[in-house]
Amino acid sequence: MSDAMEWQQDVGRDLMASTGDRLALLVRGEGASVWDADGRRYLDFLAGIAVNSLGHAHPVFVDALARQAATLAHVSNYFATPPQLELAARLKRLAGTGPEGRVYFGNSGAEANEAAFKLARLHGGADRPRILSLRDAFHGRTMGTLALTGKPYMQEPFAPMTPGVEHIDTTIEALEAALDDRVAALFVEPIKGEAGVIDLPEGFLSAARELTSRHGALLIVDEIQTGAGRTGEWFAFQRDGITPDAITVAKGIGGGFPIGALITFGAASELFYPGTHGSTFGGNALGTAVASAVLAEIEDAGLVANAAARGAQLREVIDGLDSSLVEQCRGAGLLIGIGLRHPVAKAVVAAAQEHGLIVNAANDTTIRLAPPLTIGDVEVDEFADLFAQALRTVESALLLDADATDDIHTEEPA
Ligand SMILES: *Cc1c(COP(=O)(O)O)cnc(C)c1O
Repeated sequence: MSDAMEWQQDVGRDLMASTGDRLALLVRGEGASVWDADGRRYLDFLAGIAVNSLGHAHPVFVDALARQAATLAHVSNYFATPPQLELAARLKRLAGTGPEGRVYFGNSGAEANEAAFKLARLHGGADRPRILSLRDAFHGRTMGTLALTGKPYMQEPFAPMTPGVEHIDTTIEALEAALDDRVAALFVEPIKGEAGVIDLPEGFLSAARELTSRHGALLIVDEIQTGAGRTGEWFAFQRDGITPDAITVAKGIGGGFPIGALITFGAASELFYPGTHGSTFGGNALGTAVASAVLAEIEDAGLVANAAARGAQLREVIDGLDSSLVEQCRGAGLLIGIGLRHPVAKAVVAAAQEHGLIVNAANDTTIRLAPPLTIGDVEVDEFADLFAQALRTVESALLLDADATDDIHTEEPA
């Protein structure tokens, strides 16, 4: 199995071609480290795309999963279970919904956003057919959430989309122009993760709150990538001091167990009524027990503050890199986008992997970092060292390339 060609052939033969090439065959993890089938260790600064909040094989995660598996795994939503009620109460407290808030559980980010889409339709009825979301925002790949996702190239092969969704520019002027009394909801991704870790303009979320309130539309914040402490707040919207009508969460709350949730505030909590939505696995005892334990550990170990502090430290490291490739840092806490001056993000990812570091190319000019929230000085230092090596590898390749093919080269050299 450890033969490189062999596992890649298996991938090509047995797995659906909907995803691109796999970068490695990973067999084991511990903390911020993962190992491939040849025993090579990597520093994991992607954490399963902002999912493994506690890193790999954290004892709290392992214990909660094992204990619940040996107690009660699944009963369907004809019944309630203690872990489900505990997690709902915890999420309400951390999101600050107050007593009137409510939680719907699904199994993924897309399912959380599907529930939010249906919430928007229940609110809108026939009088409010319009749903707004932001150009370039990512909200999922199911047919409902794909309509919300503002990326025409993803939608095109699957047209026609679910009707009613309009994508607007991420400016306060565009918000002002688009909102009227026929809008049911506005979806906002507080940092556009998949688009390249793009921050919202200053004051955007407050303006969105003000305008949606004025026109009676719901403000739904997609915290699937930004939630669970990653940005140095429990949820990114809390930085702006606003109260949304709903948020969606997934990725980091389960720490590696698939779970998602829609959390409502105020009157939006009364929109769903019996029979309007459901999922066989949603809110099952395994997932909710693990998520509860993961969130409790984030709280007890002070990992939200750690995300803010390590994020600031990483930003300093990146700003201090003597590299002609790095242009700027975006994002917040431990969701960081490193903007590059040249479209070489994939080459940087490959070079980093060669040096034993896993990072992600969010697009051609952005390296995304989303390490576990548990990282400390050791991991920050190791990252600094490995990432600098990767950048140097790519820089020399670019220079060689430029020297060798001066007149036929099409890409701008460094
Ligand atoms: C990942 C993500 C989703 C989709 O979540 P899945 O679990 O992949 O379905 C939706 N919105 C945002 C902002 C995300 O980052």
